Amino acid sequence: MQYVSTRGSAPALDFEGVTLAGLASDGGLYLPAEWPRFSEAEIRDMRGLSYPDLAARVMAPFVAGSLTEEELLGLCHKVYGDFGHAAVTPLVQMDAQHWLLELFHGPTLAFKDVALQLLGALFELFLERRDQRLTIVGATSGDTGSAAIHAVAGGTRAEIFMLHPKGRVSEVQRRQMTTVRAPNVHNLAIEGSFDDAQAHVKRMFTDPEVTRVLDLGAVNSINWARLMAQVVYYFASALQLGAPDRSVAYSVPTGNFGDVFAGYVAAKMGLPVERLIVATNVNDILHRALSSGDYSAGGVTPTITPSMDIQVSSNFERLLFDAGGRDGAALADQMRSFEASKAMQLTNAQAEGAAALFTSARADQTETARAMQWAYRNAGQVIDPHTGVGLHAAQAMAAEGVVAPQVPLVTLATAHPAKFNDAVERAIGVRPALPSRVGDLFGREESYVELAGDYATTRDYVLSHAAASGEA
Ligand SMILES: *Cc1c(COP(=O)(O)O)cnc(C)c1O
Repeated sequence: MQYVSTRGSAPALDFEGVTLAGLASDGGLYLPAEWPRFSEAEIRDMRGLSYPDLAARVMAPFVAGSLTEEELLGLCHKVYGDFGHAAVTPLVQMDAQHWLLELFHGPTLAFKDVALQLLGALFELFLERRDQRLTIVGATSGDTGSAAIHAVAGGTRAEIFMLHPKGRVSEVQRRQMTTVRAPNVHNLAIEGSFDDAQAHVKRMFTDPEVTRVLDLGAVNSINWARLMAQVVYYFASALQLGAPDRSVAYSVPTGNFGDVFAGYVAAKMGLPVERLIVATNVNDILHRALSSGDYSAGGVTPTITPSMDIQVSSNFERLLFDAGGRDGAALADQMRSFEASKAMQLTNAQAEGAAALFTSARADQTETARAMQWAYRNAGQVIDPHTGVGLHAAQAMAAEGVVAPQVPLVTLATAHPAKFNDAVERAIGVRPALPSRVGDLFGREESYVELAGDYATTRDYVLSHAAASGEA
């Protein structure tokens, strides 16, 4: 399988290449040159497969040429074999129409584990093959950092430096990062905001003093391999609900548009996806773009769903490219003007292509809390606020008739409620407990360094502690 950039001028790469590259060299994002498609008979034949076997079946076309079937199958069993639930992503029924797809049974209790655990294993395999090392640097406001650390910890080829804004992540989130004790994991608490930490990371990628000695890598959601891994749970859930003989609708709490774009990929591959509901909080750039064509960035309002507090959605570019007719040169112009003015209008082709599958809805904090209360009182389910945003959108779209009553409507449950226990307690009066497999989180020893907020201090720390700099 070959991959092309959304901005049309970076070289096409194979799966190994795009996994290690992340962002394309022309600033675009990689997508498969064409969508692989399964027939109805092939989809029917997937019924009853275990999650790891299904994952290998669904991902096989994307990795062709870079991994053998045995290698892929081996990775899937290794990665998904030790999730906290034997079904990996179990479905829970809430009423006649509504279902929850629990994506939080990985080591850090959020859906990002499903993709990052695989990405970590892919890094090891490809780096070993190339006899290379990789130094991953990232900044996190919470969920991504811990999932990335757990994915890389203990590896011999990749090491990770994760920056978080000191005192500005929750204690559960901090401990999920700082209690991982592995020689290739470095936690840096930086004085300042998340944006300050993020600025340090961006600067390191273009700082010759760093790039001269280190091969830097990133793990953010623009990496194609992450999206690919997320396609699998759309297949797993739709198959259980009757696909390919019945179509299924999804409501997806959305930030960077990665998780919901994976649903679009599943539909392109032949899965009968009735509709994808893009659920946003009050940071609603995607809702405005999909409902009126106006893609314009505003400021970010902090909410009880911090993982969806975004200004721009990096993966949205993939939809604009694919739905708009795959004209890389035209999209490069459009994105350049967006980067300059922070606003753009979708073209007719982009708007119509998106409307064929996507609907959007937005939830404010009252609506989010009300959905959490409904889940608790009517279905006995304690859900996290991100999932609450998704459930509100699902219920609103069902009430408006956007999704017909006989179509199963699945809300993606993106985080375990214990991860956001303060917000859950405020909404429903119950404080969820951490699952027993991570229950000793508060008893484990932490390890992190605190650094002043200037760039040079961060850079010097990374350079002097990176195993890959070789001089230590
Ligand atoms: C990252 C995250 C999201 C948003 O997912 P995207 O792929 O960025 O759209 C939603 N909920 C939770 C809990 C998350 O961690």
